[in-house]
Amino acid sequence: MNIYKHDIVFQEVPNHISLAFYVCGCPLKCPGCHSPELWTEKTGTPLTPIMFLELVRRYRQRISCVLFLGGEWRQDELLEFLKLAHQEDLLTALYTGLDHIPHELQQHLDFLKTGPWITARGGLWSPTTNQIFRDLRSGETLNHLFQHNTKEPSL
Ligand code: SF4
Repeated sequence: MNIYKHDIVFQEVPNHISLAFYVCGCPLKCPGCHSPELWTEKTGTPLTPIMFLELVRRYRQRISCVLFLGGEWRQDELLEFLKLAHQEDLLTALYTGLDHIPHELQQHLDFLKTGPWITARGGLWSPTTNQIFRDLRSGETLNHLFQHNTKEPSL
């Protein structure tokens, strides 16, 4: 899997500081997408398990979660990274533009944002959004925790 960049983010997973990976190759091409640089895999650099663990351990004292912004189109690789994150005692999260993901992926996630970007409905911060952010451990929908935030999401 190729990533466009990694970053430490504070708002994408409520109450957690996350190491986020922006995965290249999103096939959905939502009209109005804020991240068209993620549409092609060629823009990124390969994320290897060694590099992943190096980054996780570099930021380990500051983070409690690893977040993938996309990557479900590389399911086997994504699963490997999610398992490594759990082995490092970190929570896992995925932002996907799909409405549903395979059960096997869901089993290795603690948080999941689903739904494509639809400009007229807005992101998680919008009361009319089509997108849903769930805590998969409890099954609880956490959209209300985003509604004070007017920053547009990356995916
Ligand atoms: S899922 Fe996200 S990154 Fe992919 S096209 Fe839609 S808005 Fe853009």
